[in-house]
Amino acid sequence: MSVVLCSWGDAIEGGTEETLSLAGRLARATGQELNWLVIGALGTAAAGIAPRYGVAHLDHVADGAAGPDALVATIAAYCAEHGPKTILFNQTLAARLIAPRLAGRLGVPVVTNGFDVTPSDGGLSVRATAYGGDTHVVYRLAAPVNVISIVSTTLIAEAAAAPTATVTRVIAGAAATPERLTVVSAPRATGPRLEDADVIVSGGRGLGSASNYELVKEFAGLIGAMHGASRAIVDDGWIDSSRQVGLTGKITRPGLYIAVGISGASQHMAGCSAAKTIVAINKDRDASIYRYARYGIAADCLEVMPELIKIARASKS
Ligand SMILES: Cc1cc2nc3c(=O)[nH]c(=O)nc-3n(C[C@H](O)[C@H](O)[C@H](O)COP(=O)(O)OP(=O)(O)OC[C@H]3O[C@@H](n4cnc5c(N)ncnc54)[C@H](O)[C@@H]3O)c2cc1C
Repeated sequence: MSVVLCSWGDAIEGGTEETLSLAGRLARATGQELNWLVIGALGTAAAGIAPRYGVAHLDHVADGAAGPDALVATIAAYCAEHGPKTILFNQTLAARLIAPRLAGRLGVPVVTNGFDVTPSDGGLSVRATAYGGDTHVVYRLAAPVNVISIVSTTLIAEAAAAPTATVTRVIAGAAATPERLTVVSAPRATGPRLEDADVIVSGGRGLGSASNYELVKEFAGLIGAMHGASRAIVDDGWIDSSRQVGLTGKITRPGLYIAVGISGASQHMAGCSAAKTIVAINKDRDASIYRYARYGIAADCLEVMPELIKIARASKS
């Protein structure tokens, strides 16, 4: 009997260690083994982390294809062979595609947006956000096998009391099959990822227009930050979706998050509330963002941003 976390790609995604920590707690509470299925090049990086979280087996698929169909096939084949009881995902954008499809393939329940999993009455109790993030619900899962996708923003990565001697097992990937979905328009973003940024300046509808979003970009550039956005302005086409922070965008964990003209809707905060420090620039003192911000400038962002840009330029020269 085991709990397994499924990961893939070239690098360890933000939130992976937090999810491993949750997985370890669940495994210990249910007397199960914690295993980590890793597909692709991140095997070496995973080997450095796994012992800290009490991983018994690092199951490495070195030759796994990266498309959603191939990943679902590989994870389903792994589940058929190793029979994990709880199959966990760190809820990245890609995991949102994979977890429900895997559950469908296995014919087992799936819960997405989970943030806590505990044993309950012989089954599992999963706390999750619902209705776009506004509500917390508790799902009681009684099925023998369950798929759960974890939003890690509220979790803290806590190492197990003692590191384990993790055993690496080499697992074969599923035979290559053509992907049913073809990406016709790839994300335009290149370079560093928002999820890895230490400082983010994000803009929202309070900026008033796409051209004013340039203020956010310029300020971010001057202070060595990445620029992000609320969904409202992504939907309006001011900036491409690779910059969207939130429940249906990127889950970020920067040291500093500066929100410019952003209301602080729960769906947006789902992607940035794990920031160490949030600074809000919003002219409405009652805006929700002030419930999360450590510092605030309650003023017109179109007046504040040019001043901040001047200061940032001056400090560079
Ligand atoms: C299922 C679902 C998923 C969602 N996923 C996401 C997501 O991933 N990310 C996301 O961001 N949203 C998401 N949303 C949308 C979310 O609910 C909000 O609608 C959105 O975040 C609002 O964006 P905003 O704060 O930029 O705009 P608004 O809500 O319009 O807020 C603009 C803010 O700017 C302030 N303002 C106006 N003018 C100025 C000025 N001149 N100076 C300073 N402040 C000013 C206003 O006081 C206001 O607080 C989702 C919604 C649903 C239902």
